Amino acid sequence: MLDDFEHASIVVLGSGTSIGIPMIGCHCKTCISDDPRDKRLRPSVLIKLDEHRILIDTAPDFRLQALRVPIERIDAVFYTHSHADHILGLDDLRPFNFMQKSEIPIFGSPEALDTIKNTFPYVFNGVATQSSKPKLTPHAFADGDRIPFFGMDFETIKLCHGTGTAYGFKFGDCAYLTDHSAIPEESMSRLQNLDVLFLDALRYNPHPTHQTVEQSIRTVERLQPKRAFFTHISHDLLHASVEARLPENVHLAYDGLEIPIGKAARP
Ligand SMILES: [Zn+2]
Ligand SMILES: [Zn+2]
Ligand SMILES: [Zn+2]
Repeated sequence: MLDDFEHASIVVLGSGTSIGIPMIGCHCKTCISDDPRDKRLRPSVLIKLDEHRILIDTAPDFRLQALRVPIERIDAVFYTHSHADHILGLDDLRPFNFMQKSEIPIFGSPEALDTIKNTFPYVFNGVATQSSKPKLTPHAFADGDRIPFFGMDFETIKLCHGTGTAYGFKFGDCAYLTDHSAIPEESMSRLQNLDVLFLDALRYNPHPTHQTVEQSIRTVERLQPKRAFFTHISHDLLHASVEARLPENVHLAYDGLEIPIGKAARP
């Protein structure tokens, strides 16, 4: 249970869409904004449970994100899906192998793990090399699996991501749902009345693989979380002006935001 931990929190490592904000070469209002909340690395979060650290996705910016927090331990990595903005920092897990002197378990759907193995063949082909490579133990999950860690269950939640599939993760009364264009009804039934709910909100204009701000506000209205945070944000959304228009319990996530959960959130 989350309440078993003295200090539990979710740290937003990256709140941006796949291209990152600012976008290379773009001079729009958001990309030139001085507000640090408009600087968005690729999407990922870290879950802190006392001394334990669970990482969701290894974004291309993972090395920088790990130095910023800083992250000095990783007990497991959960992959939402295998798009480049969620996996390409995988090679930077090596320092954690060095520090922890052990392999790191990684969890993903069979499809995501296949793509990860094809993208990083040198990591998984068992061939010894003169250079270092990440030491990872892949574990496949299915929808609804509950993966136990430190007395907590990490439940996998199937999401529609355009014509593909991505997974969200529910732990205690919190859930992190990035990349999705729809949430299947069966998944919706497992997400009611949470404390903290992360949702995808790319921009205001419709997109085939992501939710809009308005669509995610409707999801919040149906699921009634105490606090909702929108992530995977494009440069169409200027933080301060969008934040001011959101319902009271809904916020745009931003890089570096740390959200207390469990006992820490209940004074
Ligand atoms: Zn993405
Ligand atoms: Zn821009
Ligand atoms: Zn994606």
